Amino acid sequence: TKWVYSFGEGKAEGRAEMKNLLGGKGANLAEMSNLGLPVPPGFTVTTEVCTYFYANGRQYPDTLRTEVGAALAEIERIVGMTFGDAENPLLVSVRSGARASMPGMMDTVLNLGLNDVTVAGLARRSGDARFAYDSYRRFIQMFGNVVLDVDHHHFEEVLEDHKRDHDLNLDTELTAEDWQAVIKGYKEVVQEALGRPFPQDPQEQLWGAIGAVFGSWMNARAITYRKLHDIPAEWGTAVNIQAMVFGNMGEDCATGVAFTRNPSTGENAFYGEYLINAQGEDVVAGIRTPQHLTIAGKIANGSDLPAMEESMPEVFRQLNEVRLKLERHYRDMQDIEFTVQQSKLYMLQTRSGKRTAPAALKIAVDMVREGLITQKEGILRIEPKSLDQLLHPTLDPKATKQIIAKGLPASPGAASGKVVFTAEEAEKLAGLGENVILCRVETSPEDIHGMHAARGILTTRGGMTSHAAVVARGMGRSCVAGAGELRIDYKRGIISVRNVEVKAGDIITIDGSTGEVMLGEVQTIQPELSGDFAELMGWADAHRRMKVRTNAETPLDARTARKFGAEGIGLCRTEHMFFDADRIIAVREMILADTEAGRRVALAKIAPMQRKDFVELFKIMKGLPVTIRLLDPPLHEFLPNSDAEMAEVAKAAGTDLSKVQHRSLQLHEANPMLGHRGCRLGISYPEIYEMQARAIFEAAVEVFKETGETVTPEVMIPLVGTKKELDILKEVIDRVGGEVSTAAGRKVEYLVGTMIELPRAALQAAKIAETAQFFSFGTNDLTQTTFGISRDDAGSFLPDYQRTGILEHDPFVTLDTDGVGELVQIAAERGRKTRPDIKLGICGEHGGDPSSVYFCEKVGLDYVSCSPYRVPIARLAAAQAAI
Ligand code: ADP
Ligand code: MG
Ligand code: MG
Repeated sequence: TKWVYSFGEGKAEGRAEMKNLLGGKGANLAEMSNLGLPVPPGFTVTTEVCTYFYANGRQYPDTLRTEVGAALAEIERIVGMTFGDAENPLLVSVRSGARASMPGMMDTVLNLGLNDVTVAGLARRSGDARFAYDSYRRFIQMFGNVVLDVDHHHFEEVLEDHKRDHDLNLDTELTAEDWQAVIKGYKEVVQEALGRPFPQDPQEQLWGAIGAVFGSWMNARAITYRKLHDIPAEWGTAVNIQAMVFGNMGEDCATGVAFTRNPSTGENAFYGEYLINAQGEDVVAGIRTPQHLTIAGKIANGSDLPAMEESMPEVFRQLNEVRLKLERHYRDMQDIEFTVQQSKLYMLQTRSGKRTAPAALKIAVDMVREGLITQKEGILRIEPKSLDQLLHPTLDPKATKQIIAKGLPASPGAASGKVVFTAEEAEKLAGLGENVILCRVETSPEDIHGMHAARGILTTRGGMTSHAAVVARGMGRSCVAGAGELRIDYKRGIISVRNVEVKAGDIITIDGSTGEVMLGEVQTIQPELSGDFAELMGWADAHRRMKVRTNAETPLDARTARKFGAEGIGLCRTEHMFFDADRIIAVREMILADTEAGRRVALAKIAPMQRKDFVELFKIMKGLPVTIRLLDPPLHEFLPNSDAEMAEVAKAAGTDLSKVQHRSLQLHEANPMLGHRGCRLGISYPEIYEMQARAIFEAAVEVFKETGETVTPEVMIPLVGTKKELDILKEVIDRVGGEVSTAAGRKVEYLVGTMIELPRAALQAAKIAETAQFFSFGTNDLTQTTFGISRDDAGSFLPDYQRTGILEHDPFVTLDTDGVGELVQIAAERGRKTRPDIKLGICGEHGGDPSSVYFCEKVGLDYVSCSPYRVPIARLAAAQAAI
């Protein structure tokens, strides 16, 4: 096995496609090298070494040392310096890089190779002693922290003490002599913490750092991040060792980070920040206020520091060329890191940039228009679930808002919630169902779980590329970053600004699209669905095969779903129409009647209301298919709870209270989910289904008369397990259909079908399809009945099942394709065999879950049906599944 891959001098042994082996960073360093971009030479130790390391008791493969030695010699040859040399020392960085980018998870060590001897050589060679000792103190601190595990604050104290004793404020004011004194202190810190001196041998430093990178793959932060992002531990990380270039050699040096397009809005404009005379992550660490790359960026952010476009115009021009070259090559927005050493540009990283959902949409649509990617690629670029964020509320412009501060619009969307100051508190309150806004001076990887739990994140320090901003955008949380006017006092638990004080637990609203921070809860409104969104959805529609319907019974839901592009109703749950105040008493009267005659009296009261419901739905759906499920839930769900309610029902029915109470007890069931419900109700009380069928057909006739639109309702019988049940009930429906047709003088068109939600029904699909004209997979119940797990009670043990890996996902969220899916597949095949043109759809929660939608495409269903807000997600997922 080859364990080490070199890059540099305009070529490389690796390529971008080799991410699995080289990690994202290493693969892209190789790719940039191959593209002829100015990349300092280096080499990558593969992820396979990491795997080997953990599989073999933290030992390296035998040949690794030889390979590393040879690759290091190659760097030495290219740059003409020697690792550990007293006069002309090569310094390197040791950088981690997993397959998927894990921002801030793994620590990088810079300036490795410095010791008491080489630092003097570096000082002589560069003619800049200050630079050399500044680099050395950075190295000791980084190495001390990352590799030797000495806490940061020990080093910070030494520096603070020195500054105070010598009346110095800024790091830039420290001279070479100052840094030498600080270095002495740093070395004492190490000696004290470890009982041995700071390692002087560059080889020992190198292997220590490599070991630390591999070790960090299993640190708590990395493990949390992997959990949140579904990254398997087996992937491992690579280690990159690269010749150092220096952004801290003076005023013609700089370091920076940039996005090739705006990661927040998606605007096709170069967006980035840089710091003059700085090294490494100084830009994102918030130590000094970073400057903008472009004049436009500077103006937009109200900065008065010069843009790179002004201060280093030639370097900026080169950087902008690199930007265009990278975009053309990768055909995606890139997130880049660079350093300028004495006016020469070096590229240190590129990767596909994290972006907000609105930015992802704009970038995908723009790139299709620019001809950079195809429509299909554009469709595949958008994570269907992320559309959720585009459909999310924004602040109502008419709402009054009391703005107390303004920060950077770091991640869009408006969010209100209680102020909390720690990740722990955020997690705790969110667990209790509260909305919280996590307020921090700045965030660090330790806060990730709290950021995840919060509705929004507010920081008082840091820029658009700060940890809070990057992570919030990735998670889709709204975030206002760097609201510098706010003072957070963790000890007293307050945020103050001018004369306003906000305490922990007070409600605030943040708008991650504008950066505004407001007191109290501010009204929100739904977003516009035109422009780029409509364009992308149009492309998706053109590429998908499956139709997308919605689950809706109220006119509001039906209208919302139409607006989101629903092509009909896949599930109208008639029982939801029974709870409305104007009819619940009649419904209860019907249920509590103990004779057919009594039930018919009550049903006659409900019928006109039910008809009106359907008229309204049919009108909204304008001839699109509407599947109506006849009464499904156990009757006891409608029973009155209190004596007062029972008395009301008794009065309406003209009987006495004791009779109602008695009947109510009679209806009680031990296991209602498997009790007297679904078509079993229709078998016992056919008059209920008869009334519902009549209401449906009469509504269809009425709508035809009024609008000329032919509605073909799909009447769906729930919880069928045998063909016989369906036969009996279809007869009832057909009889009513005949009667309504005769009365109207026009044949009413309709279909009769069934939900497949019992394993028996799935297995018996061939027989059932003799009667059923369509199947709709009710995967909520089908999951319950297949697993024998009650959805309402699963909460107490499902987490254990996920933790122990018995179930990878919650089967009520993501379809269990192995088991439940197999039943769906069997039913689809057997149903089609009997009736080749049988309509097949799915109407469980899964209809809006992207991975379940992919499964439906594979099985060849005709449509998926989901809640209104998920319709766009399902449309996109269906397109992606078909591509
Ligand atoms: P992360 O994965 O956290 O982004 P990196 O490995 O990219 O860590 O290192 C962080 C920063 O360190 C880089 O953005 C860059 O500024 C600096 N850096 C890394 N390697 C070098 C190098 N060879 N020369 C100069 N700076 C470097
Ligand atoms: Mg980086
Ligand atoms: Mg059901």
